[in-house]
Amino acid sequence: MGGNKRDDPAKLLAEIAQMLEDGLETQTEPFPETVQEFSKILDELRALDRDDIKGRLVIGGFVNHPYGPDGQRCQECIYYLVHRKWCDLPELSLPVEPEWWCRLWKI
Ligand code: SF4
Repeated sequence: MGGNKRDDPAKLLAEIAQMLEDGLETQTEPFPETVQEFSKILDELRALDRDDIKGRLVIGGFVNHPYGPDGQRCQECIYYLVHRKWCDLPELSLPVEPEWWCRLWKI
């Protein structure tokens, strides 16, 4: 039994989209302003079970739309892999839509 949820990105993307659509409450604030604050969130993500997708969405502060006055989105984030629709931040490693956002957003 492999059972790695990331082996079927399309299915996982649909599951994540549904959780966000259903109004999953995530920690969009505080946005990390310093390297230390950013690292602290990464530490929290690393402490999760590898398959704890919901935990990643919550701690990452995921939303299924652009965020903030500048309308930040995954699409412009350095971790976004356009062709795979994938967040390549190792602590997340999730399929994401280009118009979504999380508080690890970075350019
Ligand atoms: S770090 Fe967040 S904003 Fe950036 S691609 Fe990943 S999920 Fe999107």
